Amino acid sequence: MNQHTRLQQSPIPFIDVAAQRRRLGGAVDNAVARVLAHCQFVNGPEVHAFESELAAFCGARHAIGCASGTDALLLVLMAWEIRPGDAVICPSFTYHATAEMVALLGATPIIADVLPDTFNLDPASCERAVATAKRLGLKPRAVIPVDLFGLPANHGAIADIAEKHGLKILDDAAQGFGASYRGRKLGTFGAATATSFFPAKPLGCYGDGGAVLTDDDVLAARVKSIRLHGEGVDRSEAARIGITGRLDTIQAAILIEKLKIFPDEIAARDRIAARYSRALADVAIVPRVGNEFTSVWAQYTVKVKPDRRDVLAADLKAQGIPTAIYYTRPLHRQPAYRDFPIAEGGVPVSEQLSREVISLPMHAYLEPPVQDRIIGAVRSSLAH
Ligand SMILES: *Cc1c(COP(=O)(O)O)cnc(C)c1O
Repeated sequence: MNQHTRLQQSPIPFIDVAAQRRRLGGAVDNAVARVLAHCQFVNGPEVHAFESELAAFCGARHAIGCASGTDALLLVLMAWEIRPGDAVICPSFTYHATAEMVALLGATPIIADVLPDTFNLDPASCERAVATAKRLGLKPRAVIPVDLFGLPANHGAIADIAEKHGLKILDDAAQGFGASYRGRKLGTFGAATATSFFPAKPLGCYGDGGAVLTDDDVLAARVKSIRLHGEGVDRSEAARIGITGRLDTIQAAILIEKLKIFPDEIAARDRIAARYSRALADVAIVPRVGNEFTSVWAQYTVKVKPDRRDVLAADLKAQGIPTAIYYTRPLHRQPAYRDFPIAEGGVPVSEQLSREVISLPMHAYLEPPVQDRIIGAVRSSLAH
């Protein structure tokens, strides 16, 4: 087998966590060893150090580390006392964790549609969802825009609607953290932002983790208390109902090292996405990033004709190239969510996207020859 054939056939990982591990190996090993030496596995000094670095990175006043992106959403919703009878607007085209904590608290997610070009919350549908909530006798309390696939939602338009209807904004930046809108990084839009450090997210740790970002001092204090069993003035006081929602010290130590190379990785992802888009724009609908936006490319997702998608996935798979479909089932089609109300006007765009989207391998260490192999395979599958 010559070298060319080997390159053609070796399987490509969808997200190569190991490549980053090779780059950061020594630094991360040393960071973990330091924690193993001081033994402060919970609430160690690395947690506070990471929180300040994360806040500085995105320009938020407070960064509060927690156990997952889902906990980050929960902590904020609990701090706002979201409860049965309340409605929280969520886009249909997202990972279902966006709406999960709303439902867990007994409140009602109102499912809104997204825009066909950005896949993010459609401000007009968000406004119709407010009307839907009121018609059902629910109190519209909050909206959770998602920065899907790494691209910020239209935070300007969403803020206008939120202000008009008295909604709080909780930005779900699990996929978009590191991206910016109008020159400001995510973490500073809305009243609070939740992000995730799940390993496959743009800024991932080596396990589970997440963070809440906010400029609101009162909210930050409440979130910190809820994260720690509702701790009050001291450890012996339970001021409110809380959870065990902390980020552990080892993950914080790893994240400190990963945050150092994050800007460099974002730039690499952006170069790779630009290369994909130049090479594929004539055979598929490639992502569009507006002037006021930057993306961190959690996914590189194109749209193809529904009847070509399965063939494309199979053609690539036969050549060792994985693809993923986010999301084959939008929120309103999930068994656990299909009984929740849908905004007036329905969610036709989410329906359509679920038939058209397909994501290609994307990570900061995707070498040009591997990318060329992916591009070539996509082009030859879609060309006939
Ligand atoms: C991953 C993800 C979450 C949940 O994050 P976890 O850390 O896995 O709990 C929430 N919302 C969106 C949009 C996500 O992609």
